[in-house]
Amino acid sequence: MNIALIAHDKKKNDMVNFAVAFKDILAKHNLFTTGTTGKRIIEATSLKLHRFLSGPLGGDQQIGSKVADNDIDLIIFLRDPLTAQPHEPDILALMRLCDVHNIPVATNLGTAEVLIKALERGELDWRNATE
Ligand code: PGA
Repeated sequence: MNIALIAHDKKKNDMVNFAVAFKDILAKHNLFTTGTTGKRIIEATSLKLHRFLSGPLGGDQQIGSKVADNDIDLIIFLRDPLTAQPHEPDILALMRLCDVHNIPVATNLGTAEVLIKALERGELDWRNATE
């Protein structure tokens, strides 16, 4: 599966801890990240991943482009709802595309854990169910 990982600045520590905790599961998949999130994950784990641009420079849009191409299966996007983000329009556009294409998105650690455990059990096969 192709998995995108994105975290706003105040959520980057949470993302690193999540990646460390679930690295054995994540390592079995193709990982895509925004720039700084990916840098932090690489520094903390041995995970291989493809880094797009930093979010404010267009990274969310680059991931959105893959969603539009039906090339992303799951997104973990740890958002910070308490801090204004300069690229909020890009973030909303990415969320919108996920809803257009029925891509599962976790926007906080609680949902992220549920989805990653479902992934581990091979239960994220909604594409087969809807096609
Ligand atoms: P970043 O981008 O990983 O480059 O910080 C994430 C974001 O803010 O969308």
